[in-house]
Amino acid sequence: MTYTINHNEKRSKIHVSKESSAHSNSRKRAVASIADRQPLATSIDYASHPVNEIFGTNVFNRQTMRAVLPKAVYKAVVRCLDHGEQLDPAMADTVANAMKDWAIARGATHFTHWFVPLHGYTAEKHDSFLVSNVEDGAVLEFSGKNLVQGEPDASSFPSGGIRSTFEARGYTGWDPSSPAFLMDSANGRTLCIPSVFCSFSGHALDVKTPLLRSLEVVSNSTVRLLHTLGNKEVKRVTCTVGPEQEYFLIDEAFYNSRPDIISAGRALFGARPPKGQEMEDHYWGSIRERVLAFMMDAEHELYRLGVPVKTRHNEVAPAQFEVAPVFESCNLATDHNMLLMEVFRKTAQKHGFRCLFHEKPFSGVNGSGKHNNWSLADDQGNNLLEPGDDPQEHLQFLVVLAAVVRAVDKYATLLRASIATAGNDHRLGANEAPPAIMSIYLGDALTKVVDNVISGKAGDKKASNMVQSGVSMLPNILKDDSDRNRTSPFAFTGNKFEFRAVGSSQSVAMPNTVLNTMVADSMDHLADEIEKAHKKGGDLKSAINNVLVKTLSDHKRVLFNGDNYSEQWHEEAARRGLANLRNFTEALPVLIAPEAKELFERYGVLKEDELVSRYHILLENYCKVINVESLLTSSMATTMILPAAIEYQTRLATAIVQTKSAVAGINLAHQENMLKDVSDRIARLKTAIEVLDMLRHEQRGEDHIDDEHTAEAKFYQQRVIPAMNEVRTVADELELMVDDSLWPLPKFREMLYIY
Ligand code: ADP
Ligand code: MG
Repeated sequence: MTYTINHNEKRSKIHVSKESSAHSNSRKRAVASIADRQPLATSIDYASHPVNEIFGTNVFNRQTMRAVLPKAVYKAVVRCLDHGEQLDPAMADTVANAMKDWAIARGATHFTHWFVPLHGYTAEKHDSFLVSNVEDGAVLEFSGKNLVQGEPDASSFPSGGIRSTFEARGYTGWDPSSPAFLMDSANGRTLCIPSVFCSFSGHALDVKTPLLRSLEVVSNSTVRLLHTLGNKEVKRVTCTVGPEQEYFLIDEAFYNSRPDIISAGRALFGARPPKGQEMEDHYWGSIRERVLAFMMDAEHELYRLGVPVKTRHNEVAPAQFEVAPVFESCNLATDHNMLLMEVFRKTAQKHGFRCLFHEKPFSGVNGSGKHNNWSLADDQGNNLLEPGDDPQEHLQFLVVLAAVVRAVDKYATLLRASIATAGNDHRLGANEAPPAIMSIYLGDALTKVVDNVISGKAGDKKASNMVQSGVSMLPNILKDDSDRNRTSPFAFTGNKFEFRAVGSSQSVAMPNTVLNTMVADSMDHLADEIEKAHKKGGDLKSAINNVLVKTLSDHKRVLFNGDNYSEQWHEEAARRGLANLRNFTEALPVLIAPEAKELFERYGVLKEDELVSRYHILLENYCKVINVESLLTSSMATTMILPAAIEYQTRLATAIVQTKSAVAGINLAHQENMLKDVSDRIARLKTAIEVLDMLRHEQRGEDHIDDEHTAEAKFYQQRVIPAMNEVRTVADELELMVDDSLWPLPKFREMLYIY
């Protein structure tokens, strides 16, 4: 079925009111213009087209393929999807042709390979289906070769040094496990083909290639372990992921008046609002009309793209929200999360909002994360982390659990490195997000099971599984055995792990690549140990039990159910010998440590030069981010904040002089103090800007082409960031002194509350 969108949506309400242009500065104009905003009604009509009807209509999915492909070809595609078999190139032509016909029938004119290079954003280069042919008129073509492979000029994508030793050409390659989709835009549609991106020599230049490798690896190692345990039926294991996405929305009028948010994604200035999140009234509060209209519009688009978005709610901070999908296989979930961010960004603009995915757009209120829910399922769809009714008797569950516990303990620093970015530094370790210390929360019940296993005690059947509400008419509620611990970076939540330290703006590809590879290593380790123990004699069950006891005892130190924010935990973690890599520059070098190189090399997930190139790109990216922020800090302080402060200073001075000349001998001590306070801050601000600028020049003057970029990143972290913070501190103090009508930048109390 084709589903057409109605472009005649009522959008007339979004405009800047005429009166408001009389206001003196853009901030005041922004506030005034927002008063007129109305929810944007679109032509979504779920009564005529319910979700199940529109879901996936823009996707070339299995259902579509079954309908349009010859049986043999369809079966080959399914074997490719379900068993990882390669698709016969001859069949690719048939698939491509069917895909083209399907896309053109739905209004597509162009196609693009859609991929995520190492800068972490999606990339696309559109080609039309048109093949010029003078004799036959316009001919539309799309061959198997077009589908399977593209050859974009890779020279402007980051390669971290890999490419220079090979050649500029890069190749995009069709990933059949993530279905092609149609991307809508105002004047047409484009067929997007999820792809990998690699160099001539086969080096991965993207985030998907290593992820796909890690998925094979974790499947193979887990299957091997399950076979060792006696579960011989399983042939393939799938990693399942559900990334919860947090984000902020602000009105575009505010956004347009904030150069920092435009260019850096976060506010580099801004005093704490008088009312922050202390009332805890935003979390799960009723969703405002305008926001709900946006959410529904974005969801509608995502349904059609086959992205199974499920939950929506207000988050902890004012103007902060969350969307979560139904979990899917890891590769698809990763692509869908990128697509979700794209659709959210676009739809927000349509509704007069800007969607901010930065980890910390507003200091003083909560930042945003991306909780990466992660599990493994066998080919019958059984979740391997499902504890069942009696976890202590569920040996396979316990072994899989032990494998994850060992992996997180052994590779804690690598896991930490996988989420290291400039943005995430504002979150991790601050008192609102998981700390940079990697530990696992299991919950009381499961911890008890682990303790029993270690000490050889029999399990006690739980007294009651029901929550007693104390109201007799209410149905009993089944107790969730892993009650929430919002402070843990890696929490067991019922039948999956939730890696909560992932940053809101990053692709989940790298964290999951690391997670899968380190878990694969654990699965193999346990299989080795169990085989060894079993060979020594005795029955399989006691061999498994012995390995289980040893593994859990060896890695128990990583388990922690308490408050991860507390000072005591930091001390306790240090006593336990757990690493605390507090920031990006401490964490990133772990990526190229011998242990990481060995792990990735052994599993063929990342070759050494691929790993090193990633390290370089991330370091360079960090330096660029801080450099942009420092330039913005300096220019905004100089051209926006200082002039406002000086104007206010002049007004105070003039008032004092004029009052004195009007009333001889009048005592103006208070006004003079006000003037002095402002003047002091102006001087401090100017000095702080000079220090920041000097540091930047010092940096530029230095040997900038430091091969490793390491020294440069440290310089930014240790010197430039504190200098930026000093500028901000003084500027924020001024914000609380200067005449409100002179202040040029939208304030937090406005951006977070007026929408
Ligand atoms: P909460 O905020 O309570 O953690 P949500 O419903 O917001 O819960 O998100 C839970 C996420 O975990 C959803 O995306 C859900 O699909 C996902 N999830 C559930 N089971 C699994 C699983 N077996 N593997 C991966 N993700 C899962
Ligand atoms: Mg969650």
